[in-house]
Amino acid sequence: MNIILLGPPGAGKGTQARILADRFGLVHLSTGDMLRASQAAGTAVGLEVRDIMARGDLVTDDIVIRLIEEEFDKGASIAGAVFDGFPRTLGQADALGMMLERRGDRLDAVIEMRVDDEALIARVTGRFTCASCGEVYHERTRRPKVDGVCDKCGGTRFVRRDDDNERAMRHRLYTYYRDTAPLIGYYYAKGLLRSIDGLGEIEEVAARIAAALPKAEARP
Ligand code: ADP
Ligand code: ADP
Ligand code: ZN
Repeated sequence: MNIILLGPPGAGKGTQARILADRFGLVHLSTGDMLRASQAAGTAVGLEVRDIMARGDLVTDDIVIRLIEEEFDKGASIAGAVFDGFPRTLGQADALGMMLERRGDRLDAVIEMRVDDEALIARVTGRFTCASCGEVYHERTRRPKVDGVCDKCGGTRFVRRDDDNERAMRHRLYTYYRDTAPLIGYYYAKGLLRSIDGLGEIEEVAARIAAALPKAEARP
């Protein structure tokens, strides 16, 4: 099963992708995480994208398509993949379709997570993550059970993203509506779109996503 989580920044894609990966054995493919890893490793790509990401603009299709192809093949899981933050343009969506087709694979569903804009800004400006395992937390809605200690791995160092400030976030939202929202119509027309309400408890949202997934069926 290959699924896309589609939604604006802060919709909860990363949080839900981790849950889906755990529950269904899917590989979690986040282009945002890949690009941040390139920056941390100081690669040429990392240097090239630093300012673009800090501003909240999109990096070029070429870069993210290359990253996603590499990681898709490296992480290949029989169960499939959950795409988080990719595709973000119509060009990327076409490239993903071709990549899957070349491998005799296909997309099973696109889950659109709907959250209103003011809630998105509150989510993103309160976000922090575990520096060791990447678990996602929030200052108010999802604190670690023991203050200062990651629930998942016991790590004690946490990080905030450079682009999780209100100014960059407003620009990311604009970019989302301009470049990414057209994918909603694109996947609707392909019969793959399932829209769910992304507001509510994390577990409630996870249950809505699970209910929207296609039932397991034999593949040709
Ligand atoms: P995205 O990957 O779509 O940008 P994240 O999964 O990183 O979103 O979530 C953004 C922020 O909102 C994080 O701080 C996360 O802990 C928090 N969050 C995620 N889901 C919910 C939810 N259902 N209710 C409240 N806060 C949430
Ligand atoms: P969010 O949690 O806001 O959805 P991500 O971690 O997915 O953010 O992405 C952070 C930044 O990385 C984006 O603002 C953009 O600059 C870049 N980026 C991530 N994925 C893509 C993509 N598929 N295409 C272009 N740029 C991307
Ligand atoms: Zn951790």
